[in-house]
Amino acid sequence: MAKRPNPRSVRAARSYTLQEAADAIGVSIGTVRGWIRTGLPAFVGRRPVLIVGSDLQAFLQNRRARSRIDLSEDEFFCLRCKLPRKPFGMLVDLHLQSAKTARLVGLCEVCGTPCNKMVSRRDLARIGQIFDVAGKVGSQA
Ligand SMILES: [Zn+2]
Repeated sequence: MAKRPNPRSVRAARSYTLQEAADAIGVSIGTVRGWIRTGLPAFVGRRPVLIVGSDLQAFLQNRRARSRIDLSEDEFFCLRCKLPRKPFGMLVDLHLQSAKTARLVGLCEVCGTPCNKMVSRRDLARIGQIFDVAGKVGSQA
């Protein structure tokens, strides 16, 4: 297991390609792509995809903070508020990620930022009672 990504190894004022970001932090490029899917801001409309150092720092710092926070089942961690938040209207979109996991996306009830939360597909029945689940995206099973 690699050491924990350190936000201090990233310089705020420069932009990073995915490979540069991976090298700077000491993770694989696949890990960086995964972070972008789960909320790391990136300029994905251009090639190469660029990540702003300050965004990367904030993302890593929030991941650290989040790992210390126990979210209630009805809460998301908002990257902008840096706090656990309930989704606006308790409304979430459901994205099936794999055979075992699903991603819930809700808008922070305070600032409107999209927030992600990974859940086990085993728990979907209970999640349906907590949230108003709007869409089943990629639902095959
Ligand atoms: Zn928020």
